[in-house]
Amino acid sequence: MKRTFSRILPLVLAVLLSGCTGTPAAPASQTDVPVSAVPTDPQTATVFAMDTVMDLTVYGDATLLGEAERTIASLEAAFSVTDPESEIAAVNRDGTAALGDDTLRLLTRALALCERTGGTLDVTVYPVVRAWGFTTGDYQVPDPDELAALLEEVDYTAVRIDGDRVTVGEGMQLDLGSVAKGYTGDRVTDLFRNAGVTSAILNLGGNVQTLGAKPDGKPWRVAVNDPLGNGYAGVVEVADKAVITSGGYERYFVEGGTVYRHIIDPADGYPVDNGLLSVTIIGDEGVLCDAFSTALFVMGADRAAEFWRTSDDFEAILLTEDGEIFVTEGIAADFEPLGDWSAAPLTVLHR
Ligand code: ADP
Ligand code: MG
Repeated sequence: MKRTFSRILPLVLAVLLSGCTGTPAAPASQTDVPVSAVPTDPQTATVFAMDTVMDLTVYGDATLLGEAERTIASLEAAFSVTDPESEIAAVNRDGTAALGDDTLRLLTRALALCERTGGTLDVTVYPVVRAWGFTTGDYQVPDPDELAALLEEVDYTAVRIDGDRVTVGEGMQLDLGSVAKGYTGDRVTDLFRNAGVTSAILNLGGNVQTLGAKPDGKPWRVAVNDPLGNGYAGVVEVADKAVITSGGYERYFVEGGTVYRHIIDPADGYPVDNGLLSVTIIGDEGVLCDAFSTALFVMGADRAAEFWRTSDDFEAILLTEDGEIFVTEGIAADFEPLGDWSAAPLTVLHR
C-alpha cells in the first residue's frame, strides 16, 4: 500500500508542477472551470407559480433553491394581473402607481420591446384578453362593437413612466403576462450565477433557461413541444441561452368550429390565426425571448422571418399548421426535429 502510494505521489506532483514551470498558465475564465469543480448531484425543486409548473435544477448549494423560490414568489406578487394586491393591479385600478424595482425594470424593458415589434407585442392588450375570457376561463366571442371600443384603449405608447411612477390612460390596463416568466428566468439565472453556479436549468412552464452547459461540459438538450400532440417536435442544443416558446396550443377554446387562442393580435383584437402553430425563440435574454415568442407568433411566418433578418439578438424555430419547419441559420445546426416532425419539410432562413 505504502509502496504504491509513494510511487504515484511523484507522478501527481509532476503533473501539478508542470503547470507552474515555464510560461505562467492563463487565468481560468468562467467557462474554463474544471469539470470536477461542478457538483455532480443536481438539486431540484418544483414550484407552482405564475399559473404554471416550474422545475428548477441547479448544480450547487441546495439553499439556492429556497432563494430562487422566494424570488419567484415576490416577482409573482408584484407582476400578477389577477392578484388585487399586486403592483400591476394597483395601476389597473387607480390609473397610476409607484412601482418597485423589478416591475419598473420589467415594464421599461417590455415597452422598448413592444416598440421594436411595431406593437405586435402590446402590454396594454389586457382589456381585450379579458373580453375573450382568457383570464378567467369564462370563454366567449365578444361583440365586434365591444372589441372596437376596447381596442381604443390598447396603446403601449400611452404608458407614461416618471421616476418610479407609472401612469396609464383612462380605461387602460397593463398585463406583463407575455414577458413575466422570461424576466423571472433572467432573475433566477442571475441569482445562481452570482452565487458562483456554472450549471443550471430552469423550466418555467415551457420557458427554458440555461446557465452554462451541463456539468460534463456538453450542451443542454432542450425539447421543443409538439404543438399537435403530447410529444416533442424537436430538440435544440444550447448553453447559456433561453429557449422560449409561444403557441396557441396551451390555452384556447373552440366555438362554432373555430379555434380561438390566447394570443391576441393588437391590430384587430382577435386571437391570432395565421398558420403558425408555435414560435420558439433562442437568445441570451429571457425577457427578450419571451417578448419575441409572443410577438413573432402574432406576426406570422413571413413577417417573423423579416423581423429576424433585421435583428441580431435571437434565433427562431417556427412550426406551421401546414407541417413545415422554419429555422434561422444561427441555430439550424443545433436543432434536430423529432417524432412526427422529423420528416417535415425544413427551411433554413438566411439573412
Ligand atoms: P404563455 O404565457 O402561455 O407562455 P406568452 O408568453 O406568449 O404565453 O404570453 C401570452 C399572454 O400574454 C396571454 O395570456 C395574454 O395575457 C398576453 N397577451 C396576449 N396577446 C398579447 C400581445 N399581442 N401582446 C402582449 N401580451 C399579449
Ligand atoms: Mg411570451
